[in-house]
Amino acid sequence: MGAYKINDWQNLKTEDINELQHALISWFEKNHRQMPWRETINPYYTWISEVMLQQTRVDTVIPYFLRFIDKFPTVKQLAKADEEEVLRLWAGLGYYSRAKNIHRGAKLICEVYDGKIPENQKELLKIPGIGSYTAGAILSIAYEKPAAAVDGNVMRVFSRLFLVYKDISEGSTKKEMEKLGEAVVSATNPSAFNQGLMELGALICTPNSPKCSSCPLSFICRARRAGVQESLPVKKKKEAVKSVNMELGLLQKGDKVLLTKRPPEGLLANLWALPAVEGTADGNAGRSIVLELQESYGIETSDPEPVVEKSHVFTHMKWNMQLFRLKLLSMSDIDYPEIQWVSLKEMDQYAIPTAFLKVIKEIK
Ligand code: SF4
Repeated sequence: MGAYKINDWQNLKTEDINELQHALISWFEKNHRQMPWRETINPYYTWISEVMLQQTRVDTVIPYFLRFIDKFPTVKQLAKADEEEVLRLWAGLGYYSRAKNIHRGAKLICEVYDGKIPENQKELLKIPGIGSYTAGAILSIAYEKPAAAVDGNVMRVFSRLFLVYKDISEGSTKKEMEKLGEAVVSATNPSAFNQGLMELGALICTPNSPKCSSCPLSFICRARRAGVQESLPVKKKKEAVKSVNMELGLLQKGDKVLLTKRPPEGLLANLWALPAVEGTADGNAGRSIVLELQESYGIETSDPEPVVEKSHVFTHMKWNMQLFRLKLLSMSDIDYPEIQWVSLKEMDQYAIPTAFLKVIKEIK
């Protein structure tokens, strides 16, 4: 079988689409996993859960989702919250710009749409952090509209089902896949159809070793027929992750530890963390963090003593973190709002990212 041309979908027979919809929806209705956001049809729940689920596993998301919804049960309550509080509830989920966008989005929904999440794609796409996938998920799951919701998982399923040899990391492929999604989505049950595709991608049509013998769509799957399911989707190799050596400071005053608020721009912006700075490769370990504390906050320290090493991988970067215990010599009289002395017990009241929690766990 040759490479399938994606635009051939426009010529797909209605009975084939009907068969696909029927098989997928029946499978989803019998086999889907229970998730708290699936218990009611609430566009706010769909929005929050879909954003949390980006790059994150369902099991990880569930407790975060429940805490978030408990604290901010409606868009209006979320809009009124402090960003600090939103970030605190997000701490550990990573990709913090998602939380900031949700918060900004809630404010916009209150200002422009009186707290009601819009019911059309054009308006949804104006909301910070809502892209075509999240818009499609909200429209189809919460509003029962036949919109496509195409993310990386769905593109993998489509690549295999329809034998698409196109690089799914390209924006043009995503656009074509969205057209494909619109062509095949069920008009009568778009929610079960789209969730079925997502669930199939998570449970059956997995990135490695897809479980084709248990797949409800194997009878129409072109990749399976051609025996090439393991080589799809086509995806450009990611660039190598850059490694950065970070020096962290452990500074204590009684039972309290110094936390600093990270700058408003860049990686982990506005989150609370142990003082940290990129180290130099001159073999003078601990010197960079001593200088950073002195220059940024007027804190004089000495004798950096290495305590623990940990690493953390972000999307495009790996931090090799080395924590130094520092002796506090003196502090400036200036009251810096971006530093706080916090006991280990109080730390859960702060939005601290996972990279630093790994190190703090060692201190504890
Ligand atoms: S038959 Fe296999 S490759 Fe095709 S959709 Fe199902 S799990 Fe994926």
